[in-house]
Amino acid sequence: MTQDGYDYRRAQMVESLRRGGINDDRVLEAMAAIPRHYFVPEALRHQAYSDDVSVHIGEGQTISQPRIVALMTEAAKIDEMDRVLEIGTGSGYQAAVLARLARFVFTVERVASLARQAKAVLDRLGIENVSVKVMDGTLGWRAQAPFDVILVTAGAPEVPAPLVDQLADGGRLVVPVGSRETQVLKIVQRRGERTFAHELKGACFVPLIGRHGWEDTST
Ligand code: SAH
Repeated sequence: MTQDGYDYRRAQMVESLRRGGINDDRVLEAMAAIPRHYFVPEALRHQAYSDDVSVHIGEGQTISQPRIVALMTEAAKIDEMDRVLEIGTGSGYQAAVLARLARFVFTVERVASLARQAKAVLDRLGIENVSVKVMDGTLGWRAQAPFDVILVTAGAPEVPAPLVDQLADGGRLVVPVGSRETQVLKIVQRRGERTFAHELKGACFVPLIGRHGWEDTST
């Protein structure tokens, strides 16, 4: 497909997100600006702009549907001065969207090859306010805490406690919680030493694997 073809499809995707109830213009603008097809393997690029399709990116992982990326990003209410932590870099697409809205994005991935690929695409797009690290994100990133926003893009069995600890006062944690197959998007907000949680909607993510997540059953 030509560049124009991708641009056209991306504009249509954003229109469909707007019709689907995403109201935050900053989120829509960010998703209109980031070329999602760069984050999708070449052979699957025709799927890059379907708003309700998650695309395989290798290592048994997927890039979330644009609809879910938009919903989670909107729910996080990101301010331009915010420092954001993402757990589950995957393709790097969600990190790129966050990077347009926030001051700085820290993102962690447990699969080294995915982290490397994501970093290469972010570099290619000249996105400089993202730092990618390979580690178990269920432990957070203590050295860089606290964070104004933490976004978990893999399904957790429960809210990982270290992530709540690493939220700044007023900070928001967005995390899918449930079984290995289906989850509910949870928003946890911190105010002083207290936390407030509410639920957004159902979703299907790949499992969050780690000390405060699911056990790795692949080996
Ligand atoms: N945000 C990604 C989609 C992520 S899919 C994107 O925009 O493309 C979920 C990712 O979480 C997978 O790449 C998976 O390897 C990773 N993951 C699972 N458990 C993790 C953990 N404990 N720490 C870091 N990454 C993890």
